[in-house]
Amino acid sequence: MATPKVHIARHQHCGCILCGRCCRRFHVRLTEAEVTRLQALDWGTEPDVPRDFVHRLHGQAYFRRRADGGCVFLDGQTGACRMHARFGFDAKALTCRGYPHNLASTWRDEVSVVARLDCPAVQQDAGRPLESGRRQIERLVEELGTRGGFTVRQLDGLSREAVERLTRALVGLIEDYHNESPGTLAYALFLLATRCQTLGATFLNDLETLETVLPSLLGAVRNEAATRPAGRFGRLSRILFREWLAAACRRDEELVRPSLAVRLRRSAALAAYAVGAGSLRTMGQEHPDLSLRRVGLFAGGAGWEPSSPAAWESFRGLLVARLEGPQFFGVAYYGEPFFTGLRALLQSYPLVLAAARTHAAARSVRCIETPDVHYAVGAIDHSLGRSPLLQWRLWRQVEEYFAGPRYGRLLKALGWD
Ligand code: SF4
Ligand code: SF4
Repeated sequence: MATPKVHIARHQHCGCILCGRCCRRFHVRLTEAEVTRLQALDWGTEPDVPRDFVHRLHGQAYFRRRADGGCVFLDGQTGACRMHARFGFDAKALTCRGYPHNLASTWRDEVSVVARLDCPAVQQDAGRPLESGRRQIERLVEELGTRGGFTVRQLDGLSREAVERLTRALVGLIEDYHNESPGTLAYALFLLATRCQTLGATFLNDLETLETVLPSLLGAVRNEAATRPAGRFGRLSRILFREWLAAACRRDEELVRPSLAVRLRRSAALAAYAVGAGSLRTMGQEHPDLSLRRVGLFAGGAGWEPSSPAAWESFRGLLVARLEGPQFFGVAYYGEPFFTGLRALLQSYPLVLAAARTHAAARSVRCIETPDVHYAVGAIDHSLGRSPLLQWRLWRQVEEYFAGPRYGRLLKALGWD
């Protein structure tokens, strides 16, 4: 079998800052072969080595976690992995070696690698370029054996050339709008994607015609994005948006003992949030503990100062990495087709805005700044295509509900930044 070609995100950087977040938040899944291999590691006379490190849940093996959520191998003092420190990087489980990379099979025998923005080092875009870890990444790809490629259904009838031309046009728009507000950018991207979908696969696959019409399409999108949409954003829409935000922020994976009672409590908290009560903290430890009422999600931009475009760099980074991957449909998004995944990626803006506002309000400031966007991008990227809850088709219907004219009204109701 041919070695897959590996495409690594061009602009991303990552240098682990040993924050330990990944070792506190996730259930790290182990294969039985890994359990056997790790049990055989010779720790010599090292004290307090966790020998009983396997936790079984529904027949699947995971690393056991302490009551504070940390993996039993996480050194609380240094923030480093004890297994890594003692035996080196290669000794660790595949999932541990993989993070923060997201590996996705794209075209047949090609694999795309982007860095996850729920890792603080990636949010800060600090450290070495992702490309510098190519050897390690290629070993991971080989071990995972992921290479099947998009299916015909996932491509929505589009040719590879059309997919690449459309994603290039969207990335071009992000670069052109570098100094624009993120809301205007998000709206313009959404309008462009919607118009392209309306044109249909046969039209889009005709690259010569597509090249001819793209400039006028982009011009029309720019004009439309410059005007704020009219219309009411009703009560049902507000409930659905809050529910969607809460679902994207829900972190059942951080529960050390995810009993039925605990899950039911979280579901009740989600329902309460949808009708305007509670705080995002009930969805997960990483979220601000501020009552939703004090955030004033639908107060428009009233009382908020506009943030600088520079504060939104990590949001633009998320869009570019996912678009260039392409990691927004297929295996990267619940096996969904191109336009469904594209819509979900571009619709991440109102979720990021709402989360960033919540974070800023919890800091008692009325302007979204870089740390607020970092938190929000991490929170939403975490769930984009990876959430056990949002994988249900019902949520595609919520995304669909906010497509079309309602999307612009949603941005307006939130008071886009
Ligand atoms: S979350 Fe990122 S920065 Fe923090 S320990 Fe994990 S890899 Fe390192
Ligand atoms: S084994 Fe090490 S890298 Fe993996 S979750 Fe535990 S502490 Fe983190």
